[in-house]
Amino acid sequence: MRRAPAIEDNRWIKLVSHEHEHEKEKPLSEFLFAPPAPVSLTVAGQSARFPIHRIFCVGRNYEAHAKEMGVAADREAPFYFTKAAVHAVESGATVPYPPGTSSYHYEMELVVAIGKGGFRIAETDALDHVFGYACGLDMTRRDLQAAAKEKQRPWDLGKDVEQSAVAGTIAPAASIGHPSSGTIELRVNGVTKQSADISTMIHGVTAIIAHLSKYYHLQAGDLIYTGTPEGVGAVKAGDRLEGSVAGVGTVELELGAAE
Ligand code: MN
Repeated sequence: MRRAPAIEDNRWIKLVSHEHEHEKEKPLSEFLFAPPAPVSLTVAGQSARFPIHRIFCVGRNYEAHAKEMGVAADREAPFYFTKAAVHAVESGATVPYPPGTSSYHYEMELVVAIGKGGFRIAETDALDHVFGYACGLDMTRRDLQAAAKEKQRPWDLGKDVEQSAVAGTIAPAASIGHPSSGTIELRVNGVTKQSADISTMIHGVTAIIAHLSKYYHLQAGDLIYTGTPEGVGAVKAGDRLEGSVAGVGTVELELGAAE
């Protein structure tokens, strides 16, 4: 059996004793620094929170919004972009006007909260995978998104914005069912800016889940922002946003001064 030189043994002992000293101050961890705390949302009627795994967003899912963006809606299949889960913000927050933009837009959306994972989910089974629904705001640096489109670059700077995925309390489908129609609205400082019906979505919730799950193993905790109707627009510091989807709930956001 090979024996390490005495000097190595001493070093090992030193390290061990050093670690033990350290242990008194702070518990040992397998991580170099504290991993981020889970990001989560409140759930109506229960104290347990909904931990967010990923955030998928559907683009151009209402005809009139696609038109106001100057593009044709994609009828054959939905398309997606993503936001990091750490960019989630709970309803009622005040967030600073973000850097790098002079056209920060609201997009009021119905959000689907996945409660049961699945891969290649049949459209007829899709609703079994939905835990509930929430109202969300897909806040967007529109000028940077437009510049990216122009140059055929990814949308990340326009869409994957810090504190840009705002969501209200999740209403469990067990309580509210699966809404397929109802008014979706957004007011800025009390003035209605967006008003449509979720029944006018091009790709409905079941179609989106069936399609998205061909590309991703959907997991409990995934959120899907289902797209915004027409009437998007820019906000400024001090603006108060309030959105609602009939039968689902509300979402609120206040814009603070730029950092
Ligand atoms: Mn959107």
